[in-house]
Amino acid sequence: MTAILTGRCQCGAVTYRAKAEAKGYACHCLDCQKQSSSAFGISLSMDTTNLTVEGELGSYTKTADSGAQTDCYFCPSCGSRIYHEGKSRPGKVTIKAGTLDDTSALQLTGHLWVSRKQPWLHLGEELPVWLTQPTAPDEWEMLWSGGREE
Ligand SMILES: [Zn+2]
Ligand SMILES: [Zn+2]
Repeated sequence: MTAILTGRCQCGAVTYRAKAEAKGYACHCLDCQKQSSSAFGISLSMDTTNLTVEGELGSYTKTADSGAQTDCYFCPSCGSRIYHEGKSRPGKVTIKAGTLDDTSALQLTGHLWVSRKQPWLHLGEELPVWLTQPTAPDEWEMLWSGGREE
């Protein structure tokens, strides 16, 4: 169900409202481990027009091994990563789901890059996993189902 989600950075200088389903995927790649300074990142996809951010953002453009570029937006005061915008995916953004005000509503849709997963982390069998990341558009669509209007 599409809902109005709210979130904020750690210090509160940046807040946002997003019209999206609280569904996202976990990514265990080394970039996400570095960015989250934890074991994985959680990304929640939506149309760019469904995200309204208040407060000043800093940005950094990350280039993946594949050459794909992503603009990464964060709070310049506390450093919390807020959302990503892939250059190959115009009109869509992914929120970093740990910034949601109510993370208890979050549902996972799958796990990416489990080849890089921390060995002490045991995943259940109920969600699809990818050793790296999907190549088929419909697999991404399933992971990104939070961005679809119902
Ligand atoms: Zn902040
Ligand atoms: Zn990742």
